[in-house]
Order: sequence, then structure tokens, then C-alpha cells
Amino acid sequence: MDLILRRARLPGMDAAAPPLDIGVADGRIAAIAPALAAEAPEYDAAGRLVCAGFIETHIHLDKSCIIDRCAPEQGREALAVRRVAAVKPGFTMEDVAARASRTLAKCVGHGTTRMRTHVEVDPGVGLRGFDGVLAAIEDWRWAIDVEVCVFPQEGLTNNPGTEELMVAALRRGARVVGAAPGYDTDHAGQIRRVFALAREYDVDIDMHLDFGNTPDDMDIDLVCELTEQFRLGGRVAVGHVTKLSTLPPARLAAMGRRLADAGVAVTVLPATDLFLMGRDQDHNVRRGVVDANLLDELGVTCSISTNNVLNPFTPFGDCSLLRMANLHANILQVSSPARLDACFGMLTGRSARLLNLADYGVAVGNPADLVVLDATDARQAVAEITPPLAVFKRGRRSVTRAPVQLHRPH
Ligand SMILES: [Zn+2]
Repeated sequence: MDLILRRARLPGMDAAAPPLDIGVADGRIAAIAPALAAEAPEYDAAGRLVCAGFIETHIHLDKSCIIDRCAPEQGREALAVRRVAAVKPGFTMEDVAARASRTLAKCVGHGTTRMRTHVEVDPGVGLRGFDGVLAAIEDWRWAIDVEVCVFPQEGLTNNPGTEELMVAALRRGARVVGAAPGYDTDHAGQIRRVFALAREYDVDIDMHLDFGNTPDDMDIDLVCELTEQFRLGGRVAVGHVTKLSTLPPARLAAMGRRLADAGVAVTVLPATDLFLMGRDQDHNVRRGVVDANLLDELGVTCSISTNNVLNPFTPFGDCSLLRMANLHANILQVSSPARLDACFGMLTGRSARLLNLADYGVAVGNPADLVVLDATDARQAVAEITPPLAVFKRGRRSVTRAPVQLHRPH
């Protein structure tokens, strides 16, 4: 053994059960048992919650940390795509790599050890965003595994040259193909092209979909239809789907069952959705965040993720996934312990299912990607946004955070 994490409590463990020791060898979990009889350097979790590293399923590293260079909002209009597009010509590979690194550092510090990042390509930015993100990924390989989803933010069918760049990125290792049909003059045309690319390059699909304030003109039916037609169930995810949050309960439940049957997963992005929805209102503004717990209970694979950090889509962000789960729970008025547990699952096991990770979780044989949280169980971690005190990537310590010390006068 190379390392033993002593006295860990795992998510879902019986509160009365004795804590467990986790033995690590060659970067993988080699044993899990109470009072493991083995010699190796030790970390004492002291009865704290130890979980598999958090999974960020949807984040934009390439356009993170640009809020300082973007034009301010005009009135109630966010105009996020336009304000980012205005500064994109200034992106260089080095600039993208530096900003992606800054964001990755925060993600790693909050216990994220695996990630899918969306990267946009178009004739304006070319492959500079893609190349910059690849450089940052390489630089952070010691702490986090990152896969790229390449997508057209500024249109595909109406933006000549974009598809060639997506193909170039797919040929150079993008593992997933994405979409943003809401910014295409031909929604269905873009969706069909993206399904064609996924089949040609045998990659999964992860689309920005149905982002809007009303249930009109939803694209989700077509996505379910194509997923079934091409037998891609389990390989298709959609992000946002804020239009679902405007449906009355019976219609939402029917749509949830449809997504579950088709095998289309949903990523909820509470920070961006809360920030951008309801801009058509000037008071009593709607929340616009779809209920991940409800979809989860209908059998939909759901994750909760960060999306944007310090840009016009979301001018905030410390990259704490626990904060996103807490935000989701707060917006959706979640209070039951079981649902708080499910929110934690939407940063961990359910996210692994969405990304089709076969080697994830605290189990013998899996990579020793482990997070020690200053909590005793998952619901407390979500409720209190408890910080990670230690993170291990493939069994090697990648993060240390000292617990707060209070200096009460005597
Ligand atoms: Zn996104």
C-alpha cells in the first residue's frame, strides 16, 4: 500500500456503522475495510465524509474570467452571447490557457477531479480556444481529468466554416460533440447535423437546449426522437432546458418520463439559469431553474454543474460544486434529507453515469480520486457547503485546506 485513509465515512453509510479505512496502491483503491491491517503513510479522516472526487459535467473554461473586459449590461438585457462575441477576437491560445488554468485551480481546490468542458469554435476564434484549453488540461493532468465537448455557440447551419472547425477538433481528440441550436436560425438543422457528427465520429452528445422563459418551440422532442432513432440512449445529455421549468406539473412529469425512456440526461446549471432567466420581467422575476430532483425521481440521469464563471452569462463563481448543489436545493425549495442526498449524487455518482465513466466511485479497483469533506454525511455537505480539507488524485495528495481556527479571547 502507498497510502491509507483512516476512519472515513462514505456517502450513504449507516450512521451507526464503524468508519472505514481506504487503502491505496498504484493510484487505485486497493482495499476498503474497518481498521485495515496494513502499513503505509496515513491520512486520518477522523470520521469525516470521504467521497469520490466531484465531477463537473458542464463548464466553459475557454470563456471563463473575462467579465472585466466585457461591455456592461444594458438595462434588463443580458446579451451574453453578443458581449462575449465582441471580445472573442482578442482570445489568444496563451490567454485562453491562462484563464482556463485560473478556473481549473479553483475547481481542483473545491474537490473536482473529473470534468467535461465545453469549448466553442467558429471562424472568429478558430481553434485558439480549443488549443488554449488543451494546454491547460495538460498542465493540470496531475489533479484533474478533463474531456472536451466541442460546440458551435454562434450558429452552425448559418455560420459557414464552423462545421469544419468542429470536425478538426473531433479529429484532434474532442470526445464529445455539443450544440446550441437556440443560436442557430435552423434549430432542427443544427440538431440533425450534430447527431450526424456524433455518429460519424462515435462520440457522445451534450447540447445546450431549450434555454428560454416560455415553453414555446421546444427542441427536446426532436432530440428524444433522434436519440431513439439512432439508438443513442445513455449517450445524449442536454443542459439548461429552462423551458421545462415553465411547464405545469403534469406536463413536466410527462416530459421527464419521455427523457428517461429515451435515455437523454439533463444537466441543471442553476447559477446561469437563475442569473439569465426572467429578464423579460421587471419585478417578481421567475427563477427559471428546472427541478433536477423531480426529473431524477422520474428516472432521468441528472447532474448539477457550474457552466459559466466570471463572464456575461454568470459574473460570479468560486467553482464549488457543493455551492451549486446548495443553490439548486435553495431555489427548488428542497428540504427532504433524501433529496439533499440526491443533490450530492448529482455532483458524484449520477454525474459519472451522465459522462459514462466506468471507473468512478469509492470501490476497490477504481482510481483513488478521493475528497475529505468537513462533514459527516452528504446532506450536511450540501446544506452547509462544507469545504474539502484534503483531495487525492490517483492516490496522491493534490489539495490541503486547514480547518478554520477561531481565536476566542480567554
Ligand atoms: Zn454551457
